[in-house]
Amino acid sequence: MGETKVVKFGGSSLADARQFQKVADIVLSDDSRRFVVASAPGKRYVDDIKVTDMLYECYEKAAEGESFEAEFQAIKDRYNTIIEELGIEDFTLDDEFEMIQGAFSHMAGRDYAASRGEYLNSKILAKYLGFDFIDAAKYIFFDDAGLFDWEKTEKKLAPKLAKTQKAVIPGFYGSVPNGTIKTFSRGGSDITGSIVARACSAKIYENWTDVSGFLICDPRIVNNPAPIKTITYAELRELAYMGATVLHEDAIFPVRAAGIPVNIKNTNCPQDRGTMIVSETAEPCEHIITGIAGKKGMSVINIEKDKMNSEVGFGRNVLRALEKSNVSFEHMPSGVDTMSVVIQTENLTGKETTILDEIRSRVHPDQLYIESDLALIAVVGRGMKSARGTAAILFTALADARVNIKMIDQGSSELNIIIGVTDEDFEVAMRAIYNAFIKVKK
Ligand code: ASP
Repeated sequence: MGETKVVKFGGSSLADARQFQKVADIVLSDDSRRFVVASAPGKRYVDDIKVTDMLYECYEKAAEGESFEAEFQAIKDRYNTIIEELGIEDFTLDDEFEMIQGAFSHMAGRDYAASRGEYLNSKILAKYLGFDFIDAAKYIFFDDAGLFDWEKTEKKLAPKLAKTQKAVIPGFYGSVPNGTIKTFSRGGSDITGSIVARACSAKIYENWTDVSGFLICDPRIVNNPAPIKTITYAELRELAYMGATVLHEDAIFPVRAAGIPVNIKNTNCPQDRGTMIVSETAEPCEHIITGIAGKKGMSVINIEKDKMNSEVGFGRNVLRALEKSNVSFEHMPSGVDTMSVVIQTENLTGKETTILDEIRSRVHPDQLYIESDLALIAVVGRGMKSARGTAAILFTALADARVNIKMIDQGSSELNIIIGVTDEDFEVAMRAIYNAFIKVKK
C-alpha cells in the first residue's frame, strides 16, 4: 500500500459543513492519507459551544433526573445541519440519536456521553469520504486502573488497520476491560491520532488544526509570532511544560517511541508547511532559539544559612519538608549559602506555615521566607548548545527592557535557560526576548 499517513482533524476543522469540505479536499488529495482520526464538532465562532461541552451538560441533566430534551435536541441539530448542508443522501443518525438518548436516561456514564461527540462526527465523515468506520471502543483499550494499555491496543488495532484500506476512527475514547467507554483527558483526540500512527507504523502523523503550526511565542503576548518550522520532541516537552499548547501533552509519547514525525498543519491554509516535530534533526535552527514559553503564578521559598554548602543532607532535608506536605517543586537554584525552591503557588497555598515550620525544625536556617508573584520563562533551543553568547543576548535584552531577573536556571542538556521574573514583568520580558532573538538577530 505504500507509505501511510495518519491524519487527525481537531474540532474547529470539523465544526460545520464548510470545514468538512476542506477536510475532504485535504484527505482525498493524497492517497496515502489512509486513516483519519476525527474530533467532535468544535466552535464555529468565538462564543460558540463545543459539542463535547454540550454533551457534558446534557448528561449532567440526565444524571440528575432532569429533562434533557432541549439540550439533546440542540446536539442533534448540530449534526443534522452538517449532514444536510453536505448534501449526504440516504444517511441519517436518527437510530444512533435514539440509542444515545436512551443510554443517557439509563446513566451510561459521563465518559460515554462525551465520547458520542467524536463517534457521531466520525460516522458522518466516514460516509462523506466513502471510508470505513472503525469504532475506537473496540480497538483502543485502557486497563482496570484506567491507564492506556498499548500492548492490548496494538494486538487488536495493528492487524485491523493492516487489512483496512481507508477508515475514519473517532478520537478521544476507548474502553476498559468490562467494555465501558472511557475517554482520555480533554483534547485527547490528539492521543488517539498518535496511537493510530504508531499502530500502523505511519510515515507521518499529520495533526490538522486552525493554526499554521506551533508558534515561537504566545500570540496573546507577541503580535503575530512566526511559526516554528522544525522542533524536536525534547524541545516541545520543555515548551509544553511551560504552558505552550497545540498538541495534547500525552500525544507525543506513542509517536516518539516509534520515531514517527508529527506535522502540525492548518486546515484553513493547507499550503502552509506548518511545524514538523521530530526526534532528531540535522536541520540547523532558523534562529538561535526555537521557542519561548512561560507561566505566571509561581512562588519561591528562599532559604539562607551560613556554610550551607558544607552541611551534608541540607537539600534533602528541605525537600523532605515539601514531601511531607505532598508538594512537588519545579526548580531549585542554589548558591553557596542560599537555596531557593520554586513551586506553583496553587500547590503551596494553605500549606505555607506547615512547610516553613518543618524546614525551620529540620535545617535551622538564618533566613527563611516566601516570595510569590513570580513568573518563569523558558527560552528553549537545540541551537543554544553550539552558539556562543546566547545568555549575553538574553540578559542584555532583559536589562534594556528594565526587567529584574530574580532567578536563573539552565538545564544540564543546554536545551533551555529558565529565568524567573515578577508576574508584573512577565509580558515585557517575553517580548524583549522575542525581539532580541527572532526579530533583530538571525
Ligand atoms: N472533543 C474532545 C474535547 O473537546 C476531544 C478532542 O477534541 O480532542 O476535549
